[in-house]
Amino acid sequence: MSIVYFVDGFVPEAAAQIPITTHALHYGTSVFEGIRAYGDGTRSALFRPLEHYERFLRNAAWLEMKPRWTAAELTGLTVELLRRNAFFDDRYVRPFLFKTSRTIGAGLPEGESLAIVAVPMARGPLPRPGVTATWSRWRRFPAAACPAGAKIAGLYVNSSLARGDAVSRGFDQPILLDISGRVAEGYGANLFAVFGSHVTTPPADCDILPGITRDSLLQYVTSQADLSVAIEAITPDRLLEADEVFLCGTGMEIVPIASIEGRPIGSGDGQARIAERAARWYRDIVTGDGPAPDDWLVPVTPAT
Ligand code: PMP
Repeated sequence: MSIVYFVDGFVPEAAAQIPITTHALHYGTSVFEGIRAYGDGTRSALFRPLEHYERFLRNAAWLEMKPRWTAAELTGLTVELLRRNAFFDDRYVRPFLFKTSRTIGAGLPEGESLAIVAVPMARGPLPRPGVTATWSRWRRFPAAACPAGAKIAGLYVNSSLARGDAVSRGFDQPILLDISGRVAEGYGANLFAVFGSHVTTPPADCDILPGITRDSLLQYVTSQADLSVAIEAITPDRLLEADEVFLCGTGMEIVPIASIEGRPIGSGDGQARIAERAARWYRDIVTGDGPAPDDWLVPVTPAT
């Protein structure tokens, strides 16, 4: 059984229990993150944990939470969690801050607790096989209804519905449009489209969650002399004309879309060349095999 961080310290997972009246359970009043560590079994590194925890703290503010940790301190707790468990392999870390109030009724009652749990998550194959996609029957919720860029648990019903709908109709992935019908993103990943050597991804005002993987890939593409890049709105018709479409996110990594509604993307030969190039760059960065910008990797090693 693993050790988790729960409320005030590290405890065995079985001891991390919440009362059934906990506010977050009823109203989704929790913020969370998904952070990846890549390792070889003897040492690993967390990928951009500071940016994840900075987003976590920004999101906590939407729910009027007042966490007592800085992003650096939360990163330190995460390193400690992996160390205590001797997890030096590929892991997915899920921190969350949840409203602990036991009052029934929506609202933003005071009081929250922190939990951090790490589960195994193996890296995906390279090259990655393409997946099938469908236009989701569910639109992305607009920023006028709730903070569209925030990882707030309750908002993920939108993602659950979209993914459930796509899978029940026989597709791997939904593509969600924003409320005005422009391409937004996947159910838990951002979307890129490639037109020749031009790489593009929708802007924040298409109600996406601006991901850290998206940001990393934007930095990569910008550094490539043979590619141009722009953040721009994409219509569904235009997306169907792309040479490549791919999804990216911490959990998903970089996944090419082979077809949308059964219509092949690009040449139809299943080759996503720029997606594959970006995926190899990303893999080298997260595993420490390529030069990562300062602060992107936080090492996790056995305590000395
Ligand atoms: N969009 C949504 C809705 C997500 O849940 C995620 C995963 N956090 C992403 C995009 C990708 O974000 P990141 O690259 O930071 O994991």
